[in-house]
Amino acid sequence: MITNVNKRVVVLGMGVSGLSAAAYCLRKEWEVTVVDNRQEPPLLSEFKKNFENLNIVLGSFLEVDFKLFDLVVISPGLDPHSDELQTMRDSGVEVVGDIELFIREVSVPIVAITGSNGKSTVCDLLGHTLNRLGINTIVAGNIGAPVLDLLNISMPQLFVLELSSFQLETTRSLRANVACVLNISPDHLDRHITMDRYAAIKFSIFDNAKTAIINVDENFVNKLDNYKSCERLISFGRSDDANWRAVLSENEYQVSNEHGVIIRESDVSIQGMHNGLNIAATIAILQGLEIAIDSQVVDAISSYKGLRHRCELVPSDDGIRWINDSKATNPGAAIAAIESFSNSMGHLLLIAGGDAKGCDLSELAAVINEKVHSVAIFGKDKYRIANELVKEKCTLVDNLDQAVELIRVNAKKGDTVLLAPACASIDMYKNYEARGEHFRNLVGGVNV
Ligand code: ADP
Repeated sequence: MITNVNKRVVVLGMGVSGLSAAAYCLRKEWEVTVVDNRQEPPLLSEFKKNFENLNIVLGSFLEVDFKLFDLVVISPGLDPHSDELQTMRDSGVEVVGDIELFIREVSVPIVAITGSNGKSTVCDLLGHTLNRLGINTIVAGNIGAPVLDLLNISMPQLFVLELSSFQLETTRSLRANVACVLNISPDHLDRHITMDRYAAIKFSIFDNAKTAIINVDENFVNKLDNYKSCERLISFGRSDDANWRAVLSENEYQVSNEHGVIIRESDVSIQGMHNGLNIAATIAILQGLEIAIDSQVVDAISSYKGLRHRCELVPSDDGIRWINDSKATNPGAAIAAIESFSNSMGHLLLIAGGDAKGCDLSELAAVINEKVHSVAIFGKDKYRIANELVKEKCTLVDNLDQAVELIRVNAKKGDTVLLAPACASIDMYKNYEARGEHFRNLVGGVNV
């Protein structure tokens, strides 16, 4: 337990994690100031309702004299390297995120998972499998409830933490039992600027970990080497030398080790080669936890149904297959989704667009040009995307409503329509879930 009655703490960012961090700090009887650079952060009334002894500063971080504080708890949504937080850095005050505070409090073993894509799926699948095997597991971090709220409940046998690059940036005490980097592809480059820096932050998950799970196909595995200091190394990927391989065979993925095939796409609900890799990674992590990979594990994985807004079939009665992959918020995720559906019977029609977060779009454009019949593009970066594409394939529209309307006219029975935006939703929606729900409603499925 960290106790310091006189600790003066500033919580930066009045979002969901800020609310949870403020509650944690007040439980510790620390003196808490919360600050947001917005005049009216959306959760302001929650902060006022829940806490009495809170100093609130609104409108600017420049108002804060950081030298007066012992600790800054910064929200993952805020960039600690931004200009408006220069005075924070100059003050030398300790800056942490809620994950760091959480880790300092718990002695339960931790599996830590990061990557550009597949984090939530692997964490959720792993939690599902472990709980089915009778190992009481809580999945948290970048998924589910804010971690500091979990300190109020009885401890599980294991925590599975999904960690984003933003969270890893402000975490330094992690000593994961098993740490995994699923993959690295361009994302959040508006904040991390270079791929090298982004990858180094992701790989920091291996610092002081006992067992490292690596993707052998990932280029950064050859450039960064901190995982080599871990006691044990287990690999997954498509290559022959991976301990757990996912390969396409007879039109489906198969996951195998040196003894043979463990699980096939036709055994499970989560489809597409990227999910074959997600299953291979999950099995590698289970092995890292010393769990025997037997029929119970295969049954547990087979019973997993997947998360919403990830390559999710939207019910419709028009003979067109509508897929909601609103969680494809970067080019790599959209490429994985396009590749999953490009061998379908009819044409593949794509809806993409939003905030591209400064990512390079050339690889995505090459895949669209080769595999997609036509694409409707909307949102903040629609011109950037369209500029990379074959002109005849793409139509620019103002919003998702127009995209669905246009595609409905062009699609024929047997075609697949995929919403895989390759972009964040924040230019037009509260989050990817809101974008996915809007799409479902437009298609005319449930919740209309
Ligand atoms: P994350 O939590 O990292 O965003 P999710 O599991 O929520 O990952 O999946 C988001 C999207 O990323 C999916 O809808 C799919 O399009 C894509 N995806 C999932 N797993 C992978 C993978 N292993 N490689 C590439 N893309 C993936």
